[in-house]
Amino acid sequence: MACSGAAEEHIEVHEYGTFFIGGEFVAPRGTDTITVINPSTEEVVGRAPEGTQADVDAAVIAARRSFDSADGWGGYTPHQRADALNRLADELDARQEAIATAVSSQNGMPLAVAGQLEINYPSAVFRYYARLAVTTAYEERRPGFLGAGDTLIERRPIGVLAAIVPWNFPQALTAWKVGPALAAGCTVVLKPSPETVLDSYLFAEAARAAGLPPGTVNIVPAGGAVGAYLVSHPGIDKVTFTGSTAVGRAIGEVCGRLLRPVTLELGGKSAAIFLDDVDLDLARIGEALFTTCLLNNGQTCFLTSRILAPRSRYDEVVDAISALAGSVTVGDALDPSTQIGPMATAKHRDRVEGYIAKGKAEGARITVGGGRPASRPKGWFVEPTVFADVDNASTIAQEEIFGPVLSVIAYEDEDDAVRIANDSAYGLGGAIWTGDPERGREMARRVRTGTVGVNRYLPDAAAPFGGVKASGIGRDLGPEALAAHLETKSIYV
Ligand code: NAD
Repeated sequence: MACSGAAEEHIEVHEYGTFFIGGEFVAPRGTDTITVINPSTEEVVGRAPEGTQADVDAAVIAARRSFDSADGWGGYTPHQRADALNRLADELDARQEAIATAVSSQNGMPLAVAGQLEINYPSAVFRYYARLAVTTAYEERRPGFLGAGDTLIERRPIGVLAAIVPWNFPQALTAWKVGPALAAGCTVVLKPSPETVLDSYLFAEAARAAGLPPGTVNIVPAGGAVGAYLVSHPGIDKVTFTGSTAVGRAIGEVCGRLLRPVTLELGGKSAAIFLDDVDLDLARIGEALFTTCLLNNGQTCFLTSRILAPRSRYDEVVDAISALAGSVTVGDALDPSTQIGPMATAKHRDRVEGYIAKGKAEGARITVGGGRPASRPKGWFVEPTVFADVDNASTIAQEEIFGPVLSVIAYEDEDDAVRIANDSAYGLGGAIWTGDPERGREMARRVRTGTVGVNRYLPDAAAPFGGVKASGIGRDLGPEALAAHLETKSIYV
């Protein structure tokens, strides 16, 4: 494991004192403050007010007004919505450097990762939905089956959306939620995670500069209790949530009682199946492998943290995965050469270390890592860690660790590999590594998850993304996400 030095540039402390509600930056109703700490250095990088129920009330009223008003988002044609989404993408592009730095200094995401997935990627998602806003059929005349007449099928925006996002990819996930909602004609109350509030102000500035009608997007950063208040607010028509399975279950229960539509993108414990014909040369597959199993310090929902290796090549796979984890550069998230940064919070670092201790106690063998990098006395770092001889029934193979910790599990034949991959409470992602892409596609079809890659993995804006089982309900991205923000009405004519 190589270690990069601390970033040399001086990090400004960003102080915010308002919320973006009704198209303006307005004073908060409460007095509490969120303090944001840089996980690489443990220094304060920003402060912002913490939202209250009264701020949520104001945001919901503003969103409703824009939705209902002929001068607001409700009066925009699909072409006007597309133009506004493209302007929003342009305004985000104009703030790229500030956004990437804000994200990396809050959640520890390496700047090199933020520079792709937290800037270019979100604006591409908004441009994708701008295109979809004008190509979606909002009305259709369907010939009757019973002969009595035709039916006009209308597809109308659902209304005011509550969007709740986690800290791990704050901008990408905001785009996943806000893009299809705005394209469909919905208005939004967005609640960012308290760990990543600073970039949400840059998003708010972009939304304002793009000239979205006041109240179309409103942003109230706050913790879980205010998030729960937003979910059950009588002015909300649909909830879309990305975060942990535990919170997703709680939100799903409330939405079930209220009969409120909900999309839940939750945790994962995905498997990478290495077939016996796999090319293990890291010079060829190392970069793609890193993205699928260690991206963003292991703090990515879809990562394949379970590595399934054929018994015949088990030691080779363990050696390759250990070499990969052992060779990455661990360091300050703002250092451009860093590949693995710190855990987002001290509490989360403790949680990840708890799993490493549990893995050892349950008899798995550490081949690399297992501790804290000696060269980084400050910051919430964990060494990239690989466990071999892992039983799929053990805690580290069943529970989401959300850190740079990989488990290598042996399988006997392809049926056994599929059985182990599917022996999980989760069903979000997965990957097949093979020298034969057709064989990989056949295996991919047998894995019970919402998404799976063959020799690569990265969600695409045009393809639905989401999970089955404890990984959630519904899909982000693709036309499917836009359709999930429309309600249909049949008019028999
Ligand atoms: P979390 O569930 O603790 O928090 C997510 C968001 O929900 C935050 O904004 C938080 O303030 C809010 N929240 C907390 N309690 C709430 C409540 N009772 N009601 C309403 N809102 C509430 O998750 P986290 O730790 O921020 O994020 C990590 C988790 O997110 C991991 O489990 C990861 O797998 C998951 N995730 C899933 C996807 C996906 O697309 N499936 C993507 C990224 C992250």
